[in-house]
Amino acid sequence: MIPFNQAWPYDIVMNDVYVQECPFCGTGNVLLPIRPKELATIHSGKKKLLVFPCCSNRVTLLDSDSDYLLTDAVLR
Ligand SMILES: [Zn+2]
Repeated sequence: MIPFNQAWPYDIVMNDVYVQECPFCGTGNVLLPIRPKELATIHSGKKKLLVFPCCSNRVTLLDSDSDYLLTDAVLR
C-alpha cells in the first residue's frame, strides 16, 4: 500500500511523464525528468532522485504504481 500523503498522481503522455500540478510550487502540467520505463525500475526497488524542473525541489521516488509516484516526502 502506498501512503497517500506521500504519493502524487502522474500521467504518461506520449513518452513523457507529467504531473498535473507540482506539489511544491503549484505549477501546472510539469514535465518530469524521468522516462516511463524508469517507473518500472522504481517499482522493482530502484530509488530515484526526482528534481522538479519548475522549482528545483527534490524528492526520492521509492515506488510507483499505474497512477501514483511514492516519494520519501509528505506532499499533502
Ligand atoms: Zn514546482
